Amino acid sequence: MHHIVIAGAGFAACTAVKTLRKRGFNGKISLVAPRAELFYYPSLIWVPAGKRSYQDLVVPLHEFLKKNNVEYVQSSVTGVDPASKSLQLEADSINYDALIIATGGRYIRKLPGIEHAKIACSGWDDTKAFSDQLANMNEGTIAFGFSGNPNEPSAMRGGPVFEFLFGVDTLLRKQGRRDQFNLVFFSPAARPGQRMGDKAVDRLMGEMQKRDIQTYLGSKMKRFSETGVETESSSFDADLILFIPGMTGPAWAADSGLTLSEGGFFKANEFCQVEGQEHIFVAGDAGSFPGPDWKPKQAHMADLQAEAAAKNVVDVLSLKPARHTFKTELICIVDTLTNGSLVYRDPKRGLMMKMPPLHWLKVAFEKIYLRAYTP
Ligand SMILES: Cc1cc2nc3c(=O)[nH]c(=O)nc-3n(C[C@H](O)[C@H](O)[C@H](O)COP(=O)(O)OP(=O)(O)OC[C@H]3O[C@@H](n4cnc5c(N)ncnc54)[C@H](O)[C@@H]3O)c2cc1C
Repeated sequence: MHHIVIAGAGFAACTAVKTLRKRGFNGKISLVAPRAELFYYPSLIWVPAGKRSYQDLVVPLHEFLKKNNVEYVQSSVTGVDPASKSLQLEADSINYDALIIATGGRYIRKLPGIEHAKIACSGWDDTKAFSDQLANMNEGTIAFGFSGNPNEPSAMRGGPVFEFLFGVDTLLRKQGRRDQFNLVFFSPAARPGQRMGDKAVDRLMGEMQKRDIQTYLGSKMKRFSETGVETESSSFDADLILFIPGMTGPAWAADSGLTLSEGGFFKANEFCQVEGQEHIFVAGDAGSFPGPDWKPKQAHMADLQAEAAAKNVVDVLSLKPARHTFKTELICIVDTLTNGSLVYRDPKRGLMMKMPPLHWLKVAFEKIYLRAYTP
């Protein structure tokens, strides 16, 4: 009986489990992660408005794992030895016939003074701290920004920053206190969000103008301090900073001995196979994949890559060559708390449209998506 080990418990890992069982794989599956929980990052944007609690975002996976006959191993991966097909864990190791790496990415926290910014995308703690500080402020300047990984331009997460920004603007207006606050958006890119396409950037910038949001664009970040943000060409005061740094691979990647991309991610081929490794696959934010320069790091892509990886694992274990690829597409609803804009891009086309029901579509999607994991 073959044994497949999946590292991680996020979007890519859960989709890999579903796909393996759907493809009829009836061997052993083990899932290694520090917690048997799926953290639903996309809904973090509604925490400042009090629309989501910690319990809303964390989905326990025990029932899902039981239903799919998956052994849960509570640990973190620390290394891998492809020669002996062994995955090193904190206290011991686990052998595999095939391995799917789905341990996500990390945010680069190198900028001087980064401790003065709330890295909202990193999870619950920073988003909650940002939300609490916002609720307790009577006036002031709130700055929102993101940057990239200079070694791998596609390794950035900008979309949620626009959502936090527009969401906070909407919230303050609803509370009747927007005039007591100055909202600022900053980015080293002259046209932030370019990955979503030209039209999308124009619309986002237009939206900021309409909402009276000040912008500082096109200048490299230098440092944060308790009182503000400094870039190479300017500096401005800020009482509260929400910042999403560029991304890199998971901490254990550097010493894994596996092939890494320039930006520190596991380097994969079109079949999600880690370069030079027949039995090791990667899906989601942990990987660097071939594709257009606008390829996104999104849960949607993590799902598509995990499907391809899982199908290829089944084939490779049956001594067939890997042949399943995945489509690269960017699809997101940029939410504003009451409204939304749908952004879509694939290699052939790109579109953006704005309408109020898109906010509710995003809310409905969350419910439908999580239904697969809730008992
Ligand atoms: C605020 C926000 C909004 C977003 N909105 C959207 C959206 O609208 N649409 C969209 O498609 N995407 C969105 N994303 C992006 C999406 O959340 C990520 O792309 C997605 O989480 C990547 O999935 P993943 O499975 O690769 O990694 P993760 O979801 O990060 O999961 C990684 C898993 O690996 C585990 N792990 C980490 N290290 C180890 C280790 N050493 N050993 C074992 N396990 C480990 C973690 O505990 C976790 O379970 C958003 C992200 C944020 C932060």
